[in-house]
Amino acid sequence: MTSSAVRRELLEYIKQIKITNTHCHHLDDGLYENIGLFDVLRHTYVAWCANIPDIPDFSDFAAAEGFVQNARCNTFFRWLSASMQELYSLPLTADNMPALDARIKEAYRDKGYHIDVLTGRCRFEKIINDRQSDPGSSLGHPALFAPSFRCDSFFSGYDSNQPDNDGFLCHTLFGDGSPETPGEFLKAMDGAIKKKKAAGCVALKVAMAYIRPINFDSVDYKKAEKAFGNPNASVDEITAFGNIVMNAICDSAAKYSLPLQIHTGMAALDRTRPSELLGLIKRHPETKFHLLHGGFPWFSDTYALLASFNNVWSDTCWIPYLSSTRAADYIVTALEVSGADRLTWGCDAWMPEDSCGALLAMEHTLSKALAEMVCDGAFGMDYAKYLARCILRENGKELFGV
Ligand SMILES: [Zn+2]
Repeated sequence: MTSSAVRRELLEYIKQIKITNTHCHHLDDGLYENIGLFDVLRHTYVAWCANIPDIPDFSDFAAAEGFVQNARCNTFFRWLSASMQELYSLPLTADNMPALDARIKEAYRDKGYHIDVLTGRCRFEKIINDRQSDPGSSLGHPALFAPSFRCDSFFSGYDSNQPDNDGFLCHTLFGDGSPETPGEFLKAMDGAIKKKKAAGCVALKVAMAYIRPINFDSVDYKKAEKAFGNPNASVDEITAFGNIVMNAICDSAAKYSLPLQIHTGMAALDRTRPSELLGLIKRHPETKFHLLHGGFPWFSDTYALLASFNNVWSDTCWIPYLSSTRAADYIVTALEVSGADRLTWGCDAWMPEDSCGALLAMEHTLSKALAEMVCDGAFGMDYAKYLARCILRENGKELFGV
């Protein structure tokens, strides 16, 4: 069998696997009304392409063409365009923009369309969803969405009037009787996590890499106490408070058997590489760490953590969408240093067009990685197919109990 025939067979096989999507940011039904091409471009990752000043008004053909010309090499654009082809039968070119706009508007006239893309075209059976501004919500579709409870708001809990980045105030979770000491706060936080588990949450999520370094090693209660109830706390004191919060979140995650999803790599970029978590992982051997994005671009850190700790899983979400080329290398090495049971995949998107694009990117990448291993003599076709099922479906079901 030639290597391209191996890849083709694997891709065909992968394209019929039903999927446990282990990381997603899908929104409430009401936010998918009156959607057109401009909304899709502004709210998908394509808007994050480097050096793109603004999404053009596509009635201005020259501006639209300039945008496409600049963005075409970017992976976000590549797979969004493939997704447009898949969903609306046209690739994303300047010429096609008016027709795409009309087709998208028509599709969204059906209120169930955004869900149909996920369960139909994308084959998602279950979705571990992180709804930032309403942490723990299953979006009114509990059969499809199993919530991951976003814990970022606890890091700003030192000040009861300080919401998190997405506008959520953790003190609204505590009912009457606001905690008056950091110790009471941590107890209230544990109680809130317990309640979220009872309400159906299957994981915890921390995305503080967008806000601060992800090293939580310096646990100094005295300093943390200085931040508590103090709207003028220093950065150092706030960091100390965050450190005791993160360590307590790990304890609660172990206590309630909730895997802890942590954003690593791309974000604020100041000490957000996965090896910053080494101390935290060592201190919490009972916690299941589900590390997101392979720490892109610092993959070697994740290889070391996967190889050294059985309580570390790697979610490949976003990696094929950031760089399909690097993602294929990542999957090969991550498999080589861990086992069949430690990789998962999620779409990490909020627009259905990106969910579909991310899936196309993963199908492309996973078939490339597994074909490379088969052709290298690592294992045969049957085992490659087994790995594909593990990564896209079984590992997520097992880890999150869904
Ligand atoms: Zn995410």
